[in-house]
Amino acid sequence: MSTEKSSSPKPATGPGQKIHKTDAEWRAELTAEQYRVLRGKGTERAFTGQYWDAHGRAIYVCAACGQELFSSDTKFDSGTGWPSFSAPIADGKVENEDDSSLGMTRSEVHCSRCGGHLGHVFDDGPRPTGLRYCINSASLKSIPAK
Ligand code: FE
Repeated sequence: MSTEKSSSPKPATGPGQKIHKTDAEWRAELTAEQYRVLRGKGTERAFTGQYWDAHGRAIYVCAACGQELFSSDTKFDSGTGWPSFSAPIADGKVENEDDSSLGMTRSEVHCSRCGGHLGHVFDDGPRPTGLRYCINSASLKSIPAK
């Protein structure tokens, strides 16, 4: 699924490769809400997203680049109105960054492949991880699990 132009000096996109696209490319590919959240680090309103109340078996992939991020196996009802997970689907799929906006220090979570903003992670989650990945539905796409 390479979008590289033949004149590009960047290497072809492959497993483990980062995806870099211009702002115009992301704007063209994403819906307005996806762009606002994924590229603008926005937050969808609680209880408005597609997946906060989803309970089916599924793999949740990045809505921007398709990388697998979370599984329904670790999804739990947090009561917050956002899809919540106790862990990513595998190591290296998400990255954290300190976020001191809105007058508090939070740990921002983004896709390791495309850098798309996903949400934040808090330390008040269920056992065994104790983590609560609070993720915007707009950043995810649900793939029903077989
Ligand atoms: Fe991504």
